[in-house]
Amino acid sequence: MALNTHYEQIPVTTLASGNELFFPLHRLEGRAPGLTLGLSAVVHGDEPLTNEVIRQVLSRIAPAQLRGTILAVPVANPLAFESLSRHTPIDMLDMNRNFPGSPTGWLSEQMAHVLATRFVSQLDVHLDLHTGGIFPTVDYVYIFDKSRELSLAFGSQFLFEPTQPYQGTFAVPARAKGIPFFTAEVGGGSFLDTHYVEHGVRGVMNVLKQLGMIDGEVVRPPRQTIVTEMAVIRPRMGGMLYPEIGLDQLGQEVRGGTLLGRVVSPYTFETLEEIRAPFDLGYMILLRGGMMRVNPGDYGYMVANAQTARDA
Ligand SMILES: [Zn+2]
Repeated sequence: MALNTHYEQIPVTTLASGNELFFPLHRLEGRAPGLTLGLSAVVHGDEPLTNEVIRQVLSRIAPAQLRGTILAVPVANPLAFESLSRHTPIDMLDMNRNFPGSPTGWLSEQMAHVLATRFVSQLDVHLDLHTGGIFPTVDYVYIFDKSRELSLAFGSQFLFEPTQPYQGTFAVPARAKGIPFFTAEVGGGSFLDTHYVEHGVRGVMNVLKQLGMIDGEVVRPPRQTIVTEMAVIRPRMGGMLYPEIGLDQLGQEVRGGTLLGRVVSPYTFETLEEIRAPFDLGYMILLRGGMMRVNPGDYGYMVANAQTARDA
């Protein structure tokens, strides 16, 4: 599919293999003036669905309908993507915990520094796309400073306003520049890719509408809920995970104590751990849609506290 974008490469370094490491950058310039929106995907290499969201967004917008510019980095960690790994295999670091990076640091820090100084530096607004990874499926959007209206416009049912955001994420260079930034977590797990790609594309289009960069009404669900308390439930035992709730429960209420899944030893077939829902009443934000291997410490499930949630 031919895109209307100008394609550039942002050089990073030369690898020991002799190959050049670079970031791909698509520039879609509208015919009319406006803001510059940055889109980034695959900061975590095991979240390829976000790449498809950007491809579809760029293919659906003609320069004549666009006010301003979209700058898109569809693979923000090519080394991690190559290995379908969350972390950069060469230094084992999570680049999304190492912003703003450093030109003299570990490779992931050098990459983060280049993204901050050569990409985020050009933006008025930045949206970073994520999924639950290869196995979990997720659906929520972060609210950070300055991003409230844009986060709502993305159109997810749940919004997470963290009291203590993760340190070192892509939010760091945006915050230093004083521009709105937010993260959208959409899909993953591969079970419902078509559904979540559409959700992601609709979300980005909504953001473009909210920013006045394209015409059209923002499409939002009838009810959106802001959560402030999120439990990340990590298995304490590794083995085979047998889910007790299905993907249809994503976004649904869950009573405290509900059995979410069991970790079973693939060697003895004993049940090693029963994973249960926290909080008296919660909302399922991330879950695992099928039987699969889990490691201790993986993102097993995420449940938001419904009792401290509020309508948006
Ligand atoms: Zn991610």
